[in-house]
Amino acid sequence: MVQKHRASALHYDFRLEAGGVLVSWAVPKGPSLDPKVKRLAMAVEDHPLDYARFEGVIPEGEYGGGTVMVWDIGTYELDGDETFDEALRKGRIVFTLNGKKLKGGWVLVRTRGRQWLLMKRRDRDASTLEVTRAKPRSVLTRRLLAGIARDEGGDVAKAETGDPT
Ligand code: MN
Repeated sequence: MVQKHRASALHYDFRLEAGGVLVSWAVPKGPSLDPKVKRLAMAVEDHPLDYARFEGVIPEGEYGGGTVMVWDIGTYELDGDETFDEALRKGRIVFTLNGKKLKGGWVLVRTRGRQWLLMKRRDRDASTLEVTRAKPRSVLTRRLLAGIARDEGGDVAKAETGDPT
């Protein structure tokens, strides 16, 4: 699943369920459907499974304070014979997504430390569509980030800003 999260900066939290937790990366520019585009993905702490459907406002002053949207949700399968832990340890996770927005082949490759790259693989789901702009709404509630902030008592002006241009 992917959460769009306007904290101190806008980013997309990309989370894969494995070993009873959500293994997580923060992707500042969000995923790209274009296989030529490599998106920085910073490994961040695992999150509990029940966080996958969290949408709302984290109070300012708390860690990650700001507005959170469930931007995509679905299932994934690992490609190849490795376990998730083996792939994570080697720094190369090859998988197929069946989300509402993101589909087909993807890969996460570690470059150094906590830095990874998220890339679309070449297949019929690859495209040059700017998916974060073309499909900006919550998959759970169809709200925009500012709408979530408005409904949940968050900072609407902040939620409206920070989209990469
Ligand atoms: Mn986040």
